[in-house]
Amino acid sequence: MNGIIQAAYVIAALLFIFSLRGLSNQESAKSGNIYGMIGMAIALIAAIASIKGGLHWIIIAMIIGAAIGLYLAKKVEMTQMPELVALLHSFVGMAAVLVGFNSFLDSKMFLFSSNELTVHLVEIFVGIFIGAVTFSGSIVAFGKLNGRISSKPLSIPHKHYWNLVAIAVSVILMFTFVNVQSGAGATISLLAMTIIALVFGFHLVASIGGADMPVVISMLNSYSGWAAAAAGFMLGNDLLIVTGALVGSSGAILSYIMCKAMNRSFISVIAGGFGSDGSTTGSSDQEQGEYREMQPAEVAQTLKEARSVIIVPGYGMAVAQAQGAVSNITEKLRAMDIEVRFGIHPVAGRLPGHMNVLLAEAKVPYDIVLEMDEINDDFPDTDVVWVIGANDTVNPAAEEDPSSPIAGMPVLEVWKAKTVIISKRSMNTGYAGVQNPLFFKENSYMLFGDAKDSVEKVLQNL
Ligand code: NDP
Repeated sequence: MNGIIQAAYVIAALLFIFSLRGLSNQESAKSGNIYGMIGMAIALIAAIASIKGGLHWIIIAMIIGAAIGLYLAKKVEMTQMPELVALLHSFVGMAAVLVGFNSFLDSKMFLFSSNELTVHLVEIFVGIFIGAVTFSGSIVAFGKLNGRISSKPLSIPHKHYWNLVAIAVSVILMFTFVNVQSGAGATISLLAMTIIALVFGFHLVASIGGADMPVVISMLNSYSGWAAAAAGFMLGNDLLIVTGALVGSSGAILSYIMCKAMNRSFISVIAGGFGSDGSTTGSSDQEQGEYREMQPAEVAQTLKEARSVIIVPGYGMAVAQAQGAVSNITEKLRAMDIEVRFGIHPVAGRLPGHMNVLLAEAKVPYDIVLEMDEINDDFPDTDVVWVIGANDTVNPAAEEDPSSPIAGMPVLEVWKAKTVIISKRSMNTGYAGVQNPLFFKENSYMLFGDAKDSVEKVLQNL
């Protein structure tokens, strides 16, 4: 039986690798998901088959978990996905903490040899630490993404020193824990570290400003993987170790890609060094000049006269669920022999790949959806750029204002096109809370209103 279970674990691990491979490309993403689902089903069956006793508890827990999961999956809007992901990361963190305490309280631990026991105690300590940081950090990320916590960074004096102190005290506690091994001393060390790790995770994410949140999310994704791997070590479950390592390392690679996309150093972001400090956000009442408006009929006319159009979608397109209307208008313009392409910023929306998913769902052909690096040089030769619900990702302040909180972040240089039309509801700032000089440029025109309504009105006028 054990052999079959191990073989099932190997097959599940392979399917997870195929799944990640599939998810790296939009065209193969669907099959990637299917591989992942089959892998997870095999993993679950094998894990349950390996359990001796207490099966009814597992079945009850699975029914409750599956019911909540199904309900959430059906209810959640695409715009709420990032918050849901952040919340799910917190569950992995909490699971690692609980598994850690459970392993510590397990009396079988003392059947280990002295060396094995030391390794096991370190696993428990590190697993709980990573789990607790992931848990509280993910809860803060969840709050920041759904707006319950301000996206402004928390800035307590000497914050980096506090972080260092937290790590140093945790290391000292680990040595105490491993030395004492059991009893009140060990329990107190473990509990003290758990509290420190919870506060540390909270502080780490709370001190990061809005625009750097994509890195935090991918970083927490990576942490949740390492937390799962740590739980795998504690439980002696090879599949959990492999799966956790896959999630941990792919999350780390994603964090690196996000940092590169935002021109940030990974260390600086996780140390809370970037984001706005509240003083340089460029308040919205700051004098920026005049802005011009266009009505849907004028936008339709401008589009009709263009030979090349680039549509730049952002978070507002997701909120308005305008992707279907955007797809219809794309079809219409292409039928009129106008070249239409999409420019996608790597951190547009609230989730890596957010825009690509929405456009794919609305059946926009993949070959006209281009990444920032592929399209950024083409703006000067473009007649019309239509920015639909994007803001931070098209903000020229990133290039022009060194004091801006988003200074240095690569942006789509939409202002270089002949005409720029910006669809949004007001003159409000984007997620980073930074005012956008694009709206006041001479070739920019605002098309106010909900993105879906605006696009549909333009479509009627075409
Ligand atoms: P932004 O969040 O900068 O701006 C979105 C704009 O959409 C707002 O200015 C808003 O203006 C407008 N909007 C909102 N609702 C509607 C609507 N119904 N109809 C029309 N417009 C609407 O979007 P971007 O995509 O440009 O940038 C993403 C930001 O999110 C970046 O700062 C990024 O760092 C951050 N982020 C990204 C993550 C990722 O992984 N991609 C994760 C977490 C954060 P108004 O209110 O006036 O309508």
